Amino acid sequence: MEGETPIRSEFLPFCRHSISKEEIAEVVDTLNSDWITTGPKTKEFEKRFAEYVGAEYAIAVNSATAGLHLALIASGIGKGDEVITTPYTFAATANVIIHSQAASVFVDIQKDTLNIDPVKIEAAITPKTKAIIPVHFAGQSCDMDEILQIAKKYNLTVIEDAAHAISSEYKGKKIGSIGQATVFSFYATKNLTTGEGGMVTTNDKELANRIAILSLHGISKDAWKRYGAGGSWYYEIVSPGFKYNMTDIQASIGLCQLAKIEEFLKIRQKYVQIYQEAFGELPQIITPKDITPGCHAWHLYYILIKPELLKINRDSFIEALGKEGIGTSVHFIPIHLHPYYRDTYGFQKGDFPNAEWVYERIISLPLYPKLTEKDVRDVILAVRKIVDRWKIR
Ligand SMILES: *Cc1c(COP(=O)(O)O)cnc(C)c1O
Repeated sequence: MEGETPIRSEFLPFCRHSISKEEIAEVVDTLNSDWITTGPKTKEFEKRFAEYVGAEYAIAVNSATAGLHLALIASGIGKGDEVITTPYTFAATANVIIHSQAASVFVDIQKDTLNIDPVKIEAAITPKTKAIIPVHFAGQSCDMDEILQIAKKYNLTVIEDAAHAISSEYKGKKIGSIGQATVFSFYATKNLTTGEGGMVTTNDKELANRIAILSLHGISKDAWKRYGAGGSWYYEIVSPGFKYNMTDIQASIGLCQLAKIEEFLKIRQKYVQIYQEAFGELPQIITPKDITPGCHAWHLYYILIKPELLKINRDSFIEALGKEGIGTSVHFIPIHLHPYYRDTYGFQKGDFPNAEWVYERIISLPLYPKLTEKDVRDVILAVRKIVDRWKIR
């Protein structure tokens, strides 16, 4: 209430990156070299990233959005095709389908994992369906056995949106080594960041080749070498490609971040355990379920509030957390509720009931390696305080 002391006098941001002196030194090293855009460090980052996820090939790009776009186009998806995905995702996943001139077909999520419901995928398949883009929400793998089985039956390409899923596993295999193509994001908030950036991994040599060429104007392979010793001025445009390449400045950051990714993961897991134990005791809160076999990368930690046990809705809960000095976010506003999608495709409230049910209840809480244990305890204190004040007695 008025004049009362908040849990935090200094605001705790929802997210902070984990860039430190190693990344800075590596960037300086690149800037002091003669080569700052796509070059040796990008190649090294691709190699190490492919090794980390257990994929044959990795192509670095300037965002996951770019990577998803390339994966679709390089898989031959275009006009007249349909691509199945989840409405419970970031704009990028759905927008790239439109950029590829295909049509997006949404399939509702499971309430426990917030991932696309494989049981509902088959009903959405038509003769025009060419691909599925599952999103591994928060870093928990989708049910890949089910998805791959459906894909095989209907001859569909599986392009995984793994923006949240660096370090994630499914039944002992790392995400990045499973579907035809997997796309990672290195956006500022992600588990591994290069400021902006992304990576596509695949075990398909031809696909990797097409993606690499399309990422740099459709210029024949290794065109970046043309300015070095022994490089040739000659190149050929083999396709009207894009300008989606990663720079060596970004790759410098990525190389250092990749070396720390397991360390980051351990901190995330430790804080998640503290959150899970604390919130598990509150009947007004639903905690995330880690039920898919394999490592959960915990890109996000979220809670769902039970409005029927509270005199406060999700929006007011977020506002109250802000007043306690805690930064939060909402992942995601379902795609079909956004004006463009709603107005263009005639979507209505009620079309994807599970996505909407989750959206009305969800709050993402701070989870990143720079948090201290005290920060985590403060988040818990703030949530408890709000629950205590607003619970229906
Ligand atoms: C962040 C994010 C993206 C987009 O990543 P960019 O690298 O910013 O293009 C795509 N899908 C999901 C689920 C995301 O969270």
